[in-house]
Amino acid sequence: MSLTRRGLLEQVGAIGGLGAAYIAMEALGLAIPTPAGAENFVLPPHSGNGKSVIILGAGIAGLVSAYELQRAGYRVTVLEARDRIGGRVWTIRGGDRIVQTGRPDQTAVFDKGLYFNSGAARIPSTHRAILGYARRFDVPMEVMVNANRSARWDFAGAVHPERRMVNDMRGRLAELLAKAIDSRALDQQVPKGELEMIRQFLVPYAQLDARGVYVPQGSSGYSIEGGAYGQAPIPLPPLSWSELLPKPAATSRGSMAQPYLFDQIWDMQATMLQPVGGMDRIAEAIYARVKPLVRLNTPVAEIRRAGGGVRIVHGPGRQILDADYCICTLPMPVLAKVTADFSPAKKAALKSVNYRPSVKVAFESPRFWETDEGIYGGLAWTDRMNENVMYPSGGFNDPKGVLVTSYCGGWTRPDNPQAFADLSHEQRLRVCLDSVEALHPGKSKSLGKGVTVAWGITPWSEGVGAMWPGGLTAVAPRPPAYAELFRPEGPIVFAGEHLSYQQTWQEGAVLSAHEALKLVQSMAAEQPAAAAA
Ligand SMILES: Cc1cc2nc3c(=O)[nH]c(=O)nc-3n(C[C@H](O)[C@H](O)[C@H](O)COP(=O)(O)OP(=O)(O)OC[C@H]3O[C@@H](n4cnc5c(N)ncnc54)[C@H](O)[C@@H]3O)c2cc1C
Repeated sequence: MSLTRRGLLEQVGAIGGLGAAYIAMEALGLAIPTPAGAENFVLPPHSGNGKSVIILGAGIAGLVSAYELQRAGYRVTVLEARDRIGGRVWTIRGGDRIVQTGRPDQTAVFDKGLYFNSGAARIPSTHRAILGYARRFDVPMEVMVNANRSARWDFAGAVHPERRMVNDMRGRLAELLAKAIDSRALDQQVPKGELEMIRQFLVPYAQLDARGVYVPQGSSGYSIEGGAYGQAPIPLPPLSWSELLPKPAATSRGSMAQPYLFDQIWDMQATMLQPVGGMDRIAEAIYARVKPLVRLNTPVAEIRRAGGGVRIVHGPGRQILDADYCICTLPMPVLAKVTADFSPAKKAALKSVNYRPSVKVAFESPRFWETDEGIYGGLAWTDRMNENVMYPSGGFNDPKGVLVTSYCGGWTRPDNPQAFADLSHEQRLRVCLDSVEALHPGKSKSLGKGVTVAWGITPWSEGVGAMWPGGLTAVAPRPPAYAELFRPEGPIVFAGEHLSYQQTWQEGAVLSAHEALKLVQSMAAEQPAAAAA
């Protein structure tokens, strides 16, 4: 019996799993190794040889797939349900309509030039694949200020600047450690020479005096700032433990840990970036290269296997489109509801992971945070239901800006995203106005034109992204459903942020698209062109 390379790979995959199939692909010279810099990804030129691919979804994964496939000589059609590209990269500007399932529509009325990144808003410098497309297509980038020591924290009703919280926490912790060393409590745990080195290090590191007492030298701020002539600075006194770790208010289930470490999380660390003018600029730049291939307002209803290829039923008229291969990038909650010739295991896996239902809220306002309070970008944190306030990083010193008064991700209140999403539009706006008033007394009246986007009820998304075990910085092992989800169904392969270890990031969408493209490429190397798209 003769066995094609595709047949062989399917058998190896069935017996040894996808990992074994990859090893076999590499051995057969079919796998295109991802370059160390994922920004250099490219399929072999002309390797498509006229074969046809239908891509489901024109988010980042779908757009990247379309761009790379057409460059390699495939015939590509992208089917997109919405009237716009970008998916969860959704930059809202004046005139845009916000549709939410079961809620009244909203229309943004921001002034010209202002925008609200209601989905993706920041890119860490480590996300080389998505930044590579920005560079390739000359998308101007600017710094996204992801932390700001002048921004304030509002916990249990007390408001303090971040610089005071962060620096006093370090001072107090160092003071405790110095006490433990000086009272010889650590003699059994750490060799003497090392203890001496640690003790010496703590003095400049955390502003301890000779006795090991934390004495702020100004890093946490001043009660009187240094001026000219006789105006000497006076540092603020240190906050107490109960002020640094306030007991959550009875109504709040707040956690202080995330604000203290937020900008230390691997993909939240400086330098963070954003495209000038709105996050959708990268998606739009890719779209500009593949526009004729993309059909908007074309929801996919059925995903079928037909002969050796695929058959996609789509659009209001249930039109049929056949092709050799399909790359499916639909989010899991949406895909689970599409009729598809998938294995029972795939169908079960599609229902096994929750998507976070976070809400974002934004208002237009004069930039009082800059003019009156010297806050340029960054985040304020709170144990109120809005969880944080994000100050704009672009347009410093412009007369107005869009203030994102909530991106509730469960950072300071673990069960909050659903609870906040359950509120009415007006209730969410009220929570945010009260929070801004607490952080900036007298200023909430400057805010207007408020809009809210709840991602759990956003059609064609139904959530922020896949919540795999271990959270956003997951190093926890993935459940078996994960591998099942990226296992191809014959000529149908899968991509999307949920199929990556950079989940809920654009980077994950790009990297998963690259993996899907490698699979298509390996299959195409086996087969003559079959169907016409
Ligand atoms: C609130 C929020 C904050 C985020 N913050 C960041 C951030 O700061 N930085 C960052 O990099 N990422 C962020 N992300 C994540 C990032 O936006 C996503 O990971 C990424 O955009 C996902 O791309 P995708 O192509 O996998 O999926 P999607 O963008 O969801 O694309 C899927 C496409 O399929 C379409 N579709 C759905 N159903 C059908 C159907 N039946 N027929 C046809 N088409 C269909 C959708 O309309 C959509 O266009 C955030 C996301 C959200 C929601």
